Amino acid sequence: ESKERAKLLEAYELADKLYQYILHNTEQGKAAKQYLMGRGITGKLMETFGIGYAPSRWDTLVNLLDKKQFPLPLMEQGGLISAKQDGTGYVDKFRDRVMFPIRDWKGQTIAFGGRLMGDGQPKYLNSPESMLFHKSRTLYNLHASRPQIRKMQEIVLFEGYMDVIRSWDAGVTNGVATMGTALTPEHAEAIRRLAERVTVAYDGDNAGQSAAYKSIPLLENAGCQVKIAVIPGGMDPDEYIANHGSERFVREVIETAVPSIKYKLLYFRKNYRMQEDGERLRYIQQALRLIAGLTSPIEREHYVKDLTSEFRYSYDSAMQTLNEIRLQTEKNS
Ligand code: ATP
Ligand code: MN
Ligand code: MN
Ligand code: MN
Repeated sequence: ESKERAKLLEAYELADKLYQYILHNTEQGKAAKQYLMGRGITGKLMETFGIGYAPSRWDTLVNLLDKKQFPLPLMEQGGLISAKQDGTGYVDKFRDRVMFPIRDWKGQTIAFGGRLMGDGQPKYLNSPESMLFHKSRTLYNLHASRPQIRKMQEIVLFEGYMDVIRSWDAGVTNGVATMGTALTPEHAEAIRRLAERVTVAYDGDNAGQSAAYKSIPLLENAGCQVKIAVIPGGMDPDEYIANHGSERFVREVIETAVPSIKYKLLYFRKNYRMQEDGERLRYIQQALRLIAGLTSPIEREHYVKDLTSEFRYSYDSAMQTLNEIRLQTEKNS
C-alpha cells in the first residue's frame, strides 16, 4: 500500500514534468501556450503553477510510463491513464488539454485538472478520487499559499484554477480553490486550522452566489469569521481582473468583502419587491430575524442601526421587534 502510493506519486511527478516539457518545448505545445498567453497567463505564472499541456495522441503518457516500467494497472487505478474498453491495454486519460497540477500540502502532485481550449464537454476533466487524491479534503494551491495564509491569518477561497492564478498575479497570494466541488466540512476544518478569517470570492453568477451562501454555515461552524466578496456583473475573479485590472480587483472586490451577515441581508433582498410597502416590511422582519441570531449585542445594535437608518424606521421599534424575536426563539429552543 505505501509502496504503491510512492510509485503513484513518482508517476504523477513524471507526468507533471512531461506535460510542462511538452507545453514549453514542443511544436504541439504552441497552441496551448498561445491560449494561456491570450488569457493573461505569463510564462512565469505557467512555471509557478506548473501548468502543462497533454497532447492529443492516445499514448503519450502511457508509452513513457511503460518504458519506465511503471505498473500500468496501478497507474489506471490511480487515475493517471484509462483502460481500453476491450481490455487490450491502456490509453492516456487527458488528451488535448491544458493541465493544472493539483498538489497536496507538501507540494507533491496528486492529481490534475485538464481544460479544453475550445468549446466541448466537459470543459474541465479532473482526476478521479484515488489513494492520493481526496476531493473533499484537497484545496488547490494550498501548498504555495500556506506561508501567506499563516502570516495574514486569512485565506481567500475561489471556485477555480484560473481565479487562483490570476489573483495570485494580482498580489492575492493567500488564495485557494475547491475546484468545482462544493465546500465540505473537511475543507472548512482544514481552512480553520490555518486561518481564522476567510473571504469567499466565488463567481458572481447565480451558481457562484448560491454556493457562497451555502459555504457560510459550514465555515462558521468550523469557527471561521466569514466575509463574502461580491463581484459585479456576474463575472468571476479571472474575468474581473481581465476587464478591470489587478488594482481594482484588490480594492473593489477583495478589500470590500462584506461580513456574512451583511451578505445575507443583501442576498435576501432579491426576493422582495422593495418598492412595495408590504414586501419591504416583510424584508425588514426577515432581516431582524437574521440579526437576532447574532451572538454579539454590539453587532446586533450595529446592524439594526444600519437597517433603521436605511429604511427610516425608529431604532426603538426595531429593537423592540428584535427582542420579541429573541424571546420567541429562546422559548422554542
Ligand atoms: P475558466 O476556468 O477557464 O475561466 P470558468 O470560469 O467558466 O472557466 P467554471 O465553470 O466557473 O470555470 O468552473 C470553476 C472551477 O470548477 C474550475 O476551475 C474547475 O476546477 C471546476 N470545474 C468546472 N467544470 C468542471 C467539470 N465539468 N468537471 C470538474 N470540475 C469542473
Ligand atoms: Mn461558474
Ligand atoms: Mn468561473
Ligand atoms: Mn473563469
